[in-house]
Amino acid sequence: MIIVMENGATDAQIEGVVHKIKEFGLDANVSRGTERTVIGAIGDERKLDQEMIDALPGVENSMHIVKPYKIVAREWHKQNTVIDIRGIPLGGNQIQIIGGPCSVETPEQMEASAMYVKQAGCRLMRGGAFKPRTSPYTFQGKGVEGLDLFRKAADKYDLPIVTELMDVRMLDTFLEYDVDVIQIGTRNMQNFDLLKEVGRINKPVILKRGMSATISEWLMSAEYIAAGGNHNIIFCERGIRTYETYYRNVLDVTAVPVLKKETHLPVIIDPSHAGGKAWMVPALSRAAIAAGADGLLVEMHPKPCEAWCDADQALNPDELKSLMGELKGIAAVIGRSI
Ligand code: PEP
Ligand code: MN
Repeated sequence: MIIVMENGATDAQIEGVVHKIKEFGLDANVSRGTERTVIGAIGDERKLDQEMIDALPGVENSMHIVKPYKIVAREWHKQNTVIDIRGIPLGGNQIQIIGGPCSVETPEQMEASAMYVKQAGCRLMRGGAFKPRTSPYTFQGKGVEGLDLFRKAADKYDLPIVTELMDVRMLDTFLEYDVDVIQIGTRNMQNFDLLKEVGRINKPVILKRGMSATISEWLMSAEYIAAGGNHNIIFCERGIRTYETYYRNVLDVTAVPVLKKETHLPVIIDPSHAGGKAWMVPALSRAAIAAGADGLLVEMHPKPCEAWCDADQALNPDELKSLMGELKGIAAVIGRSI
Protein backbone atom coordinates (compact mmCIF):
# COMPACT_ATOMS: atom_id res chain seq x y z
CA MET A 1 0.00 0.00 0.00
CA ILE A 2 1.18 3.52 -0.78
CA ILE A 3 0.30 6.25 1.72
CA VAL A 4 0.54 9.87 0.57
CA MET A 5 0.97 12.39 3.39
CA GLU A 6 -0.56 15.87 3.31
CA ASN A 7 1.60 18.76 2.23
CA GLY A 8 3.22 19.98 5.45
CA ALA A 9 2.71 16.75 7.41
CA THR A 10 4.90 16.83 10.51
CA ASP A 11 7.63 14.35 11.41
CA ALA A 12 5.47 13.13 14.29
CA GLN A 13 2.60 12.40 11.90
CA ILE A 14 4.92 10.52 9.53
CA GLU A 15 6.28 8.57 12.48
CA GLY A 16 2.70 7.80 13.57
CA VAL A 17 1.94 6.18 10.19
CA VAL A 18 5.19 4.19 10.22
CA HIS A 19 4.35 2.98 13.72
CA LYS A 20 0.84 1.86 12.67
CA ILE A 21 2.19 -0.01 9.61
CA LYS A 22 4.64 -1.87 11.87
CA GLU A 23 1.84 -2.69 14.31
CA PHE A 24 0.13 -4.56 11.45
CA GLY A 25 3.34 -6.54 10.95
CA LEU A 26 4.60 -4.82 7.79
CA ASP A 27 7.69 -2.74 7.07
CA ALA A 28 7.61 0.91 6.05
CA ASN A 29 9.67 2.79 3.52
CA VAL A 30 9.60 6.59 3.87
CA SER A 31 10.29 8.65 0.76
CA ARG A 32 10.59 12.39 1.41
CA GLY A 33 9.98 14.56 -1.68
CA THR A 34 10.36 18.30 -1.82
CA GLU A 35 6.66 18.87 -1.15
CA ARG A 36 5.26 15.56 0.01
CA THR A 37 6.22 12.44 1.83
CA VAL A 38 5.12 9.09 0.50
CA ILE A 39 5.22 5.98 2.67
CA GLY A 40 5.28 2.50 1.18
CA ALA A 41 3.98 -0.36 3.31
CA ILE A 42 5.99 -3.46 2.47
CA GLY A 43 4.60 -6.95 3.08
CA ASP A 44 1.16 -8.55 2.79
CA GLU A 45 -1.01 -5.45 2.52
CA ARG A 46 -4.19 -7.47 3.06
CA LYS A 47 -3.23 -7.35 6.74
CA LEU A 48 -3.55 -3.56 6.72
CA ASP A 49 -6.80 -1.87 7.63
CA GLN A 50 -7.00 0.95 5.09
CA GLU A 51 -9.65 2.86 7.02
CA MET A 52 -7.42 2.95 10.07
CA ILE A 53 -4.49 4.27 8.05
CA ASP A 54 -6.65 6.91 6.32
CA ALA A 55 -7.88 8.13 9.69
CA LEU A 56 -4.38 8.92 10.97
CA PRO A 57 -3.46 12.62 11.25
CA GLY A 58 -1.50 13.96 8.28
CA VAL A 59 -2.61 11.24 5.81
CA GLU A 60 -4.03 12.58 2.56
CA ASN A 61 -4.87 9.27 0.90
CA SER A 62 -3.75 5.71 0.46
CA MET A 63 -4.00 3.16 -2.31
CA HIS A 64 -3.69 -0.57 -2.64
CA ILE A 65 -1.15 -1.92 -5.07
CA VAL A 66 -2.35 -5.52 -5.05
CA LYS A 67 -5.94 -6.58 -5.73
CA PRO A 68 -8.13 -7.36 -2.71
CA TYR A 69 -9.45 -10.43 -4.56
CA LYS A 70 -7.01 -13.22 -5.05
CA ILE A 71 -8.54 -16.55 -6.14
CA VAL A 72 -10.64 -14.99 -8.91
CA ALA A 73 -7.88 -12.63 -10.13
CA ARG A 74 -6.11 -13.28 -13.39
CA GLU A 75 -2.98 -11.90 -11.77
CA TRP A 76 -2.51 -15.26 -10.02
CA HIS A 77 -4.02 -17.54 -12.65
CA LYS A 78 -3.18 -16.53 -16.20
CA GLN A 79 -5.05 -19.25 -18.13
CA ASN A 80 -8.80 -18.98 -18.77
CA THR A 81 -10.77 -21.29 -16.51
CA VAL A 82 -13.04 -23.62 -18.43
CA ILE A 83 -15.95 -24.85 -16.34
CA ASP A 84 -17.27 -28.30 -17.04
CA ILE A 85 -21.06 -28.52 -16.88
CA ARG A 86 -21.91 -32.19 -17.34
CA GLY A 87 -19.41 -32.41 -20.15
CA ILE A 88 -20.22 -29.00 -21.66
CA PRO A 89 -17.33 -26.54 -21.48
CA LEU A 90 -18.00 -22.92 -20.53
CA GLY A 91 -15.13 -20.45 -20.79
CA GLY A 92 -13.26 -22.12 -23.64
CA ASN A 93 -13.34 -21.49 -27.36
CA GLN A 94 -16.90 -22.73 -27.72
CA ILE A 95 -19.56 -20.16 -26.76
CA GLN A 96 -22.58 -21.50 -24.85
CA ILE A 97 -26.07 -20.07 -25.31
CA ILE A 98 -28.35 -20.88 -22.39
CA GLY A 99 -31.96 -20.58 -23.48
CA GLY A 100 -35.28 -21.03 -21.77
CA PRO A 101 -38.24 -19.31 -20.17
CA CYS A 102 -38.07 -16.75 -17.40
CA SER A 103 -40.02 -19.09 -15.17
CA VAL A 104 -41.17 -22.65 -14.94
CA GLU A 105 -44.95 -22.69 -15.49
CA THR A 106 -46.51 -26.00 -16.60
CA PRO A 107 -45.31 -29.43 -17.77
CA GLU A 108 -46.46 -28.60 -21.33
CA GLN A 109 -44.69 -25.23 -21.35
CA MET A 110 -41.46 -26.80 -20.05
CA GLU A 111 -41.60 -29.71 -22.44
CA ALA A 112 -42.11 -27.37 -25.41
CA SER A 113 -39.40 -24.99 -24.13
CA ALA A 114 -36.86 -27.80 -23.79
CA MET A 115 -37.67 -29.02 -27.29
CA TYR A 116 -37.24 -25.57 -28.84
CA VAL A 117 -34.06 -24.84 -26.87
CA LYS A 118 -32.57 -28.09 -28.14
CA GLN A 119 -33.78 -27.51 -31.70
CA ALA A 120 -32.21 -24.05 -31.74
CA GLY A 121 -28.85 -25.65 -30.91
CA CYS A 122 -28.46 -24.46 -27.30
CA ARG A 123 -26.66 -26.91 -24.99
CA LEU A 124 -28.04 -25.66 -21.67
CA MET A 125 -31.46 -24.57 -20.47
CA ARG A 126 -32.59 -21.85 -18.06
CA GLY A 127 -35.82 -21.44 -16.08
CA GLY A 128 -36.74 -20.02 -12.68
CA ALA A 129 -38.65 -22.09 -10.13
CA PHE A 130 -38.13 -19.45 -7.41
CA LYS A 131 -38.70 -15.94 -8.72
CA PRO A 132 -37.49 -12.72 -7.11
CA ARG A 133 -40.46 -10.46 -7.91
CA THR A 134 -40.74 -6.78 -7.07
CA SER A 135 -44.33 -7.25 -5.87
CA PRO A 136 -45.32 -9.91 -3.33
CA TYR A 137 -48.68 -10.20 -5.12
CA THR A 138 -47.31 -11.38 -8.47
CA PHE A 139 -46.40 -14.97 -9.41
CA GLN A 140 -43.56 -16.08 -7.15
CA GLY A 141 -42.54 -19.22 -9.03
CA LYS A 142 -43.67 -22.84 -8.77
CA GLY A 143 -41.08 -23.62 -6.11
CA VAL A 144 -40.02 -27.23 -5.59
CA GLU A 145 -42.70 -28.47 -7.98
CA GLY A 146 -41.06 -26.24 -10.59
CA LEU A 147 -37.67 -27.88 -10.01
CA ASP A 148 -39.30 -31.23 -10.63
CA LEU A 149 -41.00 -30.08 -13.85
CA PHE A 150 -37.80 -28.48 -15.05
CA ARG A 151 -35.64 -31.52 -14.32
CA LYS A 152 -38.01 -33.87 -16.14
CA ALA A 153 -38.40 -31.69 -19.25
CA ALA A 154 -34.67 -30.95 -19.51
CA ASP A 155 -33.67 -34.57 -18.93
CA LYS A 156 -35.83 -35.64 -21.84
CA TYR A 157 -33.65 -33.51 -24.12
CA ASP A 158 -30.43 -34.09 -22.19
CA LEU A 159 -30.04 -30.41 -21.28
CA PRO A 160 -28.25 -29.35 -18.09
CA ILE A 161 -30.36 -26.89 -16.09
CA VAL A 162 -29.65 -23.40 -14.78
CA THR A 163 -31.98 -22.09 -12.08
CA GLU A 164 -31.96 -19.41 -9.40
CA LEU A 165 -31.37 -20.07 -5.71
CA MET A 166 -32.83 -17.29 -3.56
CA ASP A 167 -32.85 -18.85 -0.12
CA VAL A 168 -30.07 -20.86 1.46
CA ARG A 169 -32.69 -23.15 3.05
CA MET A 170 -33.40 -24.51 -0.44
CA LEU A 171 -29.80 -25.51 -1.16
CA ASP A 172 -30.23 -29.16 -0.12
CA THR A 173 -33.33 -29.42 -2.32
CA PHE A 174 -31.34 -27.98 -5.24
CA LEU A 175 -28.73 -30.67 -4.65
CA GLU A 176 -31.42 -33.38 -4.46
CA TYR A 177 -32.71 -32.29 -7.87
CA ASP A 178 -29.13 -32.19 -9.04
CA VAL A 179 -29.45 -28.65 -10.41
CA ASP A 180 -26.48 -28.36 -12.77
CA VAL A 181 -25.82 -24.62 -12.44
CA ILE A 182 -27.02 -22.48 -9.54
CA GLN A 183 -27.87 -18.90 -10.45
CA ILE A 184 -27.43 -16.13 -7.91
CA GLY A 185 -29.64 -13.26 -9.07
CA THR A 186 -28.86 -9.59 -9.25
CA ARG A 187 -30.69 -8.87 -5.98
CA ASN A 188 -28.57 -11.39 -4.11
CA MET A 189 -25.12 -10.53 -5.44
CA GLN A 190 -24.18 -9.22 -2.03
CA ASN A 191 -26.13 -11.71 0.07
CA PHE A 192 -22.89 -12.81 1.68
CA ASP A 193 -24.38 -15.69 3.67
CA LEU A 194 -25.84 -17.16 0.48
CA LEU A 195 -22.51 -16.69 -1.32
CA LYS A 196 -20.65 -18.47 1.49
CA GLU A 197 -23.02 -21.44 1.31
CA VAL A 198 -22.70 -21.91 -2.46
CA GLY A 199 -18.97 -21.62 -1.88
CA ARG A 200 -19.07 -24.83 0.16
CA ILE A 201 -20.42 -27.01 -2.66
CA ASN A 202 -18.86 -27.78 -6.02
CA LYS A 203 -21.72 -26.97 -8.39
CA PRO A 204 -21.07 -24.26 -10.97
CA VAL A 205 -22.54 -20.90 -9.93
CA ILE A 206 -23.68 -18.09 -12.23
CA LEU A 207 -23.14 -14.88 -10.29
CA LYS A 208 -25.24 -12.11 -11.77
CA ARG A 209 -24.04 -8.55 -11.38
CA GLY A 210 -25.90 -6.51 -8.79
CA MET A 211 -27.94 -3.92 -10.66
CA SER A 212 -25.92 -1.13 -9.08
CA ALA A 213 -22.72 -2.98 -8.29
CA THR A 214 -19.28 -1.86 -9.34
CA ILE A 215 -16.93 -4.32 -11.02
CA SER A 216 -14.83 -4.42 -7.89
CA GLU A 217 -17.82 -5.27 -5.66
CA TRP A 218 -18.81 -7.99 -8.10
CA LEU A 219 -15.31 -9.48 -8.09
CA MET A 220 -15.30 -9.42 -4.29
CA SER A 221 -18.63 -11.28 -4.23
CA ALA A 222 -17.13 -13.95 -6.47
CA GLU A 223 -14.19 -14.10 -4.09
CA TYR A 224 -16.65 -14.94 -1.28
CA ILE A 225 -17.75 -18.03 -3.23
CA ALA A 226 -14.19 -18.94 -4.20
CA ALA A 227 -12.89 -18.53 -0.66
CA GLY A 228 -15.20 -21.35 0.44
CA GLY A 229 -13.53 -23.69 -2.07
CA ASN A 230 -15.92 -23.49 -5.03
CA HIS A 231 -14.00 -22.02 -7.97
CA ASN A 232 -16.68 -22.88 -10.55
CA ILE A 233 -17.96 -19.34 -10.93
CA ILE A 234 -19.42 -17.69 -14.04
CA PHE A 235 -19.94 -13.93 -14.10
CA CYS A 236 -23.16 -12.75 -15.75
CA GLU A 237 -23.64 -9.12 -16.76
CA ARG A 238 -27.40 -8.43 -16.94
CA GLY A 239 -27.53 -4.67 -17.22
CA ILE A 240 -27.16 -1.99 -14.61
CA ARG A 241 -29.68 0.57 -13.45
CA THR A 242 -29.20 4.12 -14.64
CA TYR A 243 -31.37 7.21 -15.21
CA GLU A 244 -32.39 5.89 -18.65
CA THR A 245 -36.01 4.81 -19.03
CA TYR A 246 -36.14 3.68 -22.66
CA TYR A 247 -34.91 0.22 -21.66
CA ARG A 248 -35.08 -1.90 -18.52
CA ASN A 249 -31.36 -1.65 -17.72
CA VAL A 250 -28.20 -0.54 -19.50
CA LEU A 251 -26.16 -3.45 -20.81
CA ASP A 252 -22.62 -2.76 -19.73
CA VAL A 253 -20.69 -4.33 -22.60
CA THR A 254 -17.53 -2.70 -21.27
CA ALA A 255 -17.71 -5.11 -18.36
CA VAL A 256 -16.79 -7.97 -20.71
CA PRO A 257 -13.24 -6.91 -21.67
CA VAL A 258 -12.65 -5.49 -18.21
CA LEU A 259 -13.65 -8.73 -16.47
CA LYS A 260 -11.73 -10.83 -18.97
CA LYS A 261 -8.67 -8.80 -17.99
CA GLU A 262 -9.32 -8.96 -14.25
CA THR A 263 -10.41 -12.57 -13.88
CA HIS A 264 -9.69 -15.98 -15.42
CA LEU A 265 -13.32 -17.05 -14.90
CA PRO A 266 -15.95 -17.17 -17.69
CA VAL A 267 -18.12 -14.13 -18.42
CA ILE A 268 -21.59 -14.35 -19.95
CA ILE A 269 -24.26 -11.79 -20.83
CA ASP A 270 -28.00 -11.77 -20.18
CA PRO A 271 -29.39 -9.54 -22.96
CA SER A 272 -33.01 -10.21 -21.93
CA HIS A 273 -32.98 -8.55 -18.51
CA ALA A 274 -30.72 -5.83 -19.89
CA GLY A 275 -32.98 -4.60 -22.68
CA GLY A 276 -36.28 -5.78 -21.26
CA LYS A 277 -37.83 -6.05 -24.73
CA ALA A 278 -37.55 -9.00 -27.09
CA TRP A 279 -36.75 -6.82 -30.10
CA MET A 280 -33.57 -5.54 -28.41
CA VAL A 281 -32.25 -9.00 -27.58
CA PRO A 282 -30.64 -9.89 -30.96
CA ALA A 283 -28.66 -6.63 -31.16
CA LEU A 284 -27.46 -6.89 -27.55
CA SER A 285 -26.56 -10.55 -28.06
CA ARG A 286 -24.48 -9.77 -31.13
CA ALA A 287 -22.67 -7.03 -29.23
CA ALA A 288 -21.98 -9.40 -26.35
CA ILE A 289 -20.45 -12.10 -28.52
CA ALA A 290 -18.42 -9.55 -30.50
CA ALA A 291 -17.11 -8.12 -27.21
CA GLY A 292 -15.81 -11.52 -26.13
CA ALA A 293 -18.52 -12.99 -23.89
CA ASP A 294 -18.22 -16.74 -23.29
CA GLY A 295 -21.96 -17.26 -23.44
CA LEU A 296 -25.45 -15.80 -23.17
CA LEU A 297 -28.42 -16.38 -20.90
CA VAL A 298 -31.47 -15.72 -23.09
CA GLU A 299 -35.17 -15.86 -22.31
CA MET A 300 -37.29 -17.80 -24.79
CA HIS A 301 -40.92 -18.86 -24.34
CA PRO A 302 -42.95 -21.14 -26.61
CA LYS A 303 -45.70 -18.47 -26.60
CA PRO A 304 -44.19 -15.20 -25.30
CA CYS A 305 -47.50 -13.37 -25.00
CA GLU A 306 -48.71 -16.06 -22.58
CA ALA A 307 -45.61 -16.02 -20.36
CA TRP A 308 -46.35 -15.69 -16.64
CA CYS A 309 -43.30 -13.52 -16.11
CA ASP A 310 -41.24 -11.17 -18.32
CA ALA A 311 -43.48 -11.74 -21.36
CA ASP A 312 -42.17 -8.60 -23.10
CA GLN A 313 -38.60 -9.75 -23.28
CA ALA A 314 -38.99 -13.39 -24.28
CA LEU A 315 -37.94 -14.45 -27.78
CA ASN A 316 -40.21 -16.89 -29.55
CA PRO A 317 -38.73 -20.22 -30.74
CA ASP A 318 -38.13 -18.97 -34.30
CA GLU A 319 -36.40 -15.84 -33.05
CA LEU A 320 -34.07 -17.93 -30.88
CA LYS A 321 -33.24 -20.15 -33.81
CA SER A 322 -32.42 -17.28 -36.14
CA LEU A 323 -30.41 -15.55 -33.41
CA MET A 324 -28.28 -18.68 -33.05
CA GLY A 325 -27.52 -18.51 -36.78
CA GLU A 326 -26.43 -14.85 -36.59
CA LEU A 327 -24.27 -15.49 -33.54
CA LYS A 328 -22.51 -18.37 -35.25
CA GLY A 329 -21.42 -15.92 -37.95
CA ILE A 330 -20.04 -13.46 -35.40
CA ALA A 331 -18.32 -16.22 -33.46
CA ALA A 332 -16.60 -17.45 -36.62
CA VAL A 333 -15.21 -13.97 -37.35
CA ILE A 334 -13.53 -13.85 -33.94
CA GLY A 335 -12.24 -17.41 -34.21
CA ARG A 336 -14.76 -19.05 -31.88
CA SER A 337 -17.56 -21.54 -32.30
CA ILE A 338 -21.08 -21.88 -30.95
C1 PEP B 1 -33.63 -14.20 -14.07
O1 PEP B 1 -32.63 -14.50 -14.75
O2 PEP B 1 -34.68 -14.83 -14.11
C2 PEP B 1 -33.58 -13.02 -13.18
C3 PEP B 1 -34.52 -12.80 -12.26
O3 PEP B 1 -32.54 -12.24 -13.42
P1 PEP B 1 -31.93 -10.98 -12.61
O4 PEP B 1 -31.51 -11.54 -11.27
O5 PEP B 1 -30.77 -10.59 -13.47
O6 PEP B 1 -32.99 -9.93 -12.54
MN1 MN C 1 -36.91 -12.95 -16.28
